[in-house]
Amino acid sequence: MALLPELEESAAAIAALRRDIHAHPELCFEEVRTSDLVAARLEQWGVEVHRGLGRTGVVGTLRGRDGGASGRAIGLRADMDALPMQEFNTFVHASRHAGKMHACGHDGHTAMLLAAAQYLAAHRESFEGTVYVIFQPAEEGGGGAREMVKDGLFTRFPMQAVFGMHNWPGMRAGTMAVGAGPAMASSNEFRIVVRGKGGHAAMPHMVVDPVPVAAQLILALQTIVSRNVKPIEAGVVSVTMVHAGEATNVVPDSVELQGTVRTFTLEVLDLIEQRMRQLSESICQAHGAQCEFEFVRNYPPTINSAAEAEFARQVMREILGDEGVVPQEPSMGAEDFAFMLLEKPGAYCFIANGDGDHRAPGHGGGPCTLHNPSYDFNDALIPLGATFWVKLAQRWLAAT
Ligand SMILES: [Zn+2]
Ligand SMILES: [Zn+2]
Repeated sequence: MALLPELEESAAAIAALRRDIHAHPELCFEEVRTSDLVAARLEQWGVEVHRGLGRTGVVGTLRGRDGGASGRAIGLRADMDALPMQEFNTFVHASRHAGKMHACGHDGHTAMLLAAAQYLAAHRESFEGTVYVIFQPAEEGGGGAREMVKDGLFTRFPMQAVFGMHNWPGMRAGTMAVGAGPAMASSNEFRIVVRGKGGHAAMPHMVVDPVPVAAQLILALQTIVSRNVKPIEAGVVSVTMVHAGEATNVVPDSVELQGTVRTFTLEVLDLIEQRMRQLSESICQAHGAQCEFEFVRNYPPTINSAAEAEFARQVMREILGDEGVVPQEPSMGAEDFAFMLLEKPGAYCFIANGDGDHRAPGHGGGPCTLHNPSYDFNDALIPLGATFWVKLAQRWLAAT
């Protein structure tokens, strides 16, 4: 593994910083302490800092040996927010805030990008052009990337490409992955209310019972992916919440269904939404029930552009050798870096978090997987992730 020695030397200090961020998790758009810490470190290292994009977002500008005259610029992005969940770990750096936890490793993403910024600030002779380090808020549902874009991220800081990276538990430690095309899915939610006419459960002829209508609808929704979506395309329709009724002898007035839809393309998403609406309205109508149908599109699919994905892959190969770069399997999870990739070419990369052996004594009994209360970021990734960021920026800015 060809790590930059200076990043191996700074790794312990950066790991301490990562653990400090882990101990003080902050939720969507509340990343005040975290963004203060990020901005303070960047300033300490002589990086020009801009704050307030997407409320708590931070952008650091690093100009190379030409003072940025080449006009070439690259964006490297990390997310800073935590999740609203209770941590099971009890080690020293476990969350000090009840009900908040860095269970997705954004503490580690922030730390790896800080390490890279520290290196690049100390080695401006090692690149030409401009590196923007982007620390975004509110990845976990708040659309912090979208808010930074709205606040002029790409107009105030013009760049030709943008890259992001997520740690990935279960992948063999010491490996990385990136691929062209879909990396993560679009994330969407729906709410359907089947509105019947409630009444006495012993007199079904007097009511419009929404329960069997909802039951038919739940099963019918499962025919969309199997019967309407082209078999070689991917899609998920999951009904995850069913709410109805409060007494055994009362037919409820309505049933509420909620759930999620995931796709890799907008075409499949359009098809699924349209079929869901048709099935909901038609099945309700057939039984004399009313239908309320709401469909909300949250995050678009995260689509890597081919050239930038291949470029990132070459840099991974340079650091890890062929055997260290594994095929990237797209995930049906979602990622708001998608909003940045709608604006600029770029790629979302994955860095292995290992299987959990790295966790300190006192970790919870659960698996070390994303959004699990026993998760912890693997600090051993810091020099690798930071080396990747530095080399990616240097190589990309030097490419013609
Ligand atoms: Zn997450
Ligand atoms: Zn995440």
